[in-house]
Amino acid sequence: MKDCLFCKIASGEIPSKTIYEDDLVKVFLDINPVSNGHVLIIPKKHYENFLDVDDEIILHSREVAKKVYVLLKEKINAHGLTIVQNNFHGQEVKHYHIHLIPRYLDDNIEMKRQENKLDVEEIYAKLKED
Ligand code: 5GP
Ligand code: ZN
Repeated sequence: MKDCLFCKIASGEIPSKTIYEDDLVKVFLDINPVSNGHVLIIPKKHYENFLDVDDEIILHSREVAKKVYVLLKEKINAHGLTIVQNNFHGQEVKHYHIHLIPRYLDDNIEMKRQENKLDVEEIYAKLKED
């Protein structure tokens, strides 16, 4: 897609520190990493988000993510892995991508809880109502 940053990275028009690539996806280091070894998996074809992307890409990306996780463990001693995929809100680049964020024993990365939330029972009732 014209003017899409990750399409340009996918095609090689914009350089990236690529650690894995095949016909369907590319995996490269995030330019502003959350932790050492933070990488992004992108499909080479343009999709915007989780609702658009082909299931083939999702399944393939999961296999690639497992291989990359093993690499991160072996080469840079990642102790764990957090997987993030933002959709629309919180999504800076509107080309589907999965964040693989290596975790380390001494890191302090956490998912912040939102304040002023509805009661869990209330949310459950809303989700289950016809
Ligand atoms: P999002 O907020 O869309 O889920 O994440 C976009 C990610 O892309 C961010 O973590 C950001 O650091 C990364 N990013 C943005 N521009 C570039 C770039 O030009 N090159 C690379 N390698 N990463 C980028
Ligand atoms: Zn794109």
